Amino acid sequence: MIKFEKVASLGMARAGLLKTAHAIIETPVFMPVGTLGTVKAVTPQSINDTGSKIILSNTYHLMLRPGSELVEKAGGLKKFMGWDGAILTDSGGFQVMSLSSLRKIKEDGVIFQSHIDGSRHLLSPEKSVQIQHSLGSTITMVLDECIKYPSTFQEAQSAMLLSSRWAKRSFDAYIKRDGYGIFAIVQGGQYMDLRLESAEQLKSLCFDGYAIGGLAVGEPQDLMVEVLRYTTRVLPENKPRYLMGVGKPDDIIKAVQQGVDMFDCVLPTRSGRNGQAFITGGSLNIRNLKYREDFSPLDELCSCYACKNFTRSYIRHLVKSNEILGAMLLSLHNLQHYQDLMKKIRHNIINGVDLGALL
Ligand SMILES: [Zn+2]
Repeated sequence: MIKFEKVASLGMARAGLLKTAHAIIETPVFMPVGTLGTVKAVTPQSINDTGSKIILSNTYHLMLRPGSELVEKAGGLKKFMGWDGAILTDSGGFQVMSLSSLRKIKEDGVIFQSHIDGSRHLLSPEKSVQIQHSLGSTITMVLDECIKYPSTFQEAQSAMLLSSRWAKRSFDAYIKRDGYGIFAIVQGGQYMDLRLESAEQLKSLCFDGYAIGGLAVGEPQDLMVEVLRYTTRVLPENKPRYLMGVGKPDDIIKAVQQGVDMFDCVLPTRSGRNGQAFITGGSLNIRNLKYREDFSPLDELCSCYACKNFTRSYIRHLVKSNEILGAMLLSLHNLQHYQDLMKKIRHNIINGVDLGALL
């Protein structure tokens, strides 16, 4: 069990504390993505320096390489990768949909083909939970069937009902430990009736938190906000809510306004590797010629190692020369930018300041 304590609210937005075995996490929280047991181009120490207390990693990737047995032998993922904080692991459902060339959904689980070597595997709800146990995940996610956007009502309904049955099996297979938790995932595509039915079914089991899945798959932002608006209102008030795979800074602010507490997204690190920096009021592409002789930091208001020690001109030079340090500095800066954004959001909620001011 993990504990969620609400410390303030502003409309539907909440500021809280998520108390786990590995960290006490202030919410709303952004979790950097470390798919393969590494947040790309950033050391665990640097992640820690940005203020992150929890990162996300991935069952699908780690079960294929290096294998969960090896990670378990190494003492669990935290020890294997040298990370002190908490870890949430995705169940593999989304990656099976997005990466595997073959995917057969059966009642028992999903048969898929590895994107690495073409080998075939069965991932069942029980197996996903067991793997996440071997990894030593602080927060385990249930296996779900992810569907593409847009999908028909029938497709969304059948995937949602299967996901609910799998959620029950995941819950039953999960071994409870103090400070560790398991989250359910609300599905149902863009259909309100299905979302509400999914939430009601999952609420009947006492999960430690509730994720909202099947968003950030290409739908317009207005639709995402609309789905959140009716979904969060039926989720338990005393449990954390996690919007998977989101997103851009304004997506995060709008989702917090609908009562979401947790986020993850590859955007800050992926953008960093592509030469993009998030800065106060927007973003910039460091490859642009106008930064050639710009000897100011990426963001005057940022206190990260990259901004304290290097200029836009120098980082542009690194990126243009394909030097690894360029990707490292931009990724680190972007993660700091996201952590600073979450701090501002939390500060506004606690002090009753409209979150719209941050948009
Ligand atoms: Zn910075």
